Amino acid sequence: MAAAAERGTGAVSRRDDLAANLAELEARITRACTAAGRARDELTLIAVTKTWPVSDCLLLRDLGVTELGENRDQEAAQKAAAVTGVRWHFVGSVQTNKARNVASYADVVHSVDRPSLVSVLGDGAVRTGRTVDVLLQISLDGDPDRGGAEPSAVPGLGEQVAQTAGLRLAGVMAVAPLGADPADAFARLAEVSHRLRADHPAATAISAGMTGDLEQAVVAGATHLRVGTAVLGARPAPLR
Ligand SMILES: *Cc1c(COP(=O)(O)O)cnc(C)c1O
Repeated sequence: MAAAAERGTGAVSRRDDLAANLAELEARITRACTAAGRARDELTLIAVTKTWPVSDCLLLRDLGVTELGENRDQEAAQKAAAVTGVRWHFVGSVQTNKARNVASYADVVHSVDRPSLVSVLGDGAVRTGRTVDVLLQISLDGDPDRGGAEPSAVPGLGEQVAQTAGLRLAGVMAVAPLGADPADAFARLAEVSHRLRADHPAATAISAGMTGDLEQAVVAGATHLRVGTAVLGARPAPLR
């Protein structure tokens, strides 16, 4: 009786849904790796849980997901406090006045694109006795409004991160430009990564690829996939 009643609750079927989504996504990633001649273990999957409840984060953790991503400080801070035992990735643009707080819970910040952010993140990491992995977000469409540093700014920014206490330069990240071929964009990101690694050999991470374009990212050498929709379902339309 108890089991039947439990099966009737949303929590049980949500777990099954997430498990099925993860299995399907895993098969898709494996196919992409095979097609690209890469090994599955070269890629880390980050489940982007923004807009979904803490209960989903806990279910994903129970299902073996070890990396979770968020894009807004307040929501991310609450979830990181409630869900331990996973690595938290901050993937959204960071407002300078939120950066100190982000550095207090994020294990990896994917979206560092300007010098002012580097110093504040470093300060937040040092104050909390943490080391935060930093990815430089690269603009691949020349549109500064969408965030990301110009490729020409990468050497300077990389050097600044490398010299900032509390931060570790881990690599690069990009979001494919709207309306352009993601394969071309990710190829350019790979070039930026190649140049950065000449100066910083440990900065090997390439964060690229979401639900719509992960195959192209795998071809271009991505090491971290940031996937929301394929794991959790379609998000409600954002307010604004
Ligand atoms: C929301 C988000 C994702 C996940 O996008 P999906 O298309 O739902 O997989 C990845 N990266 C960033 C920066 C995001 O904000």
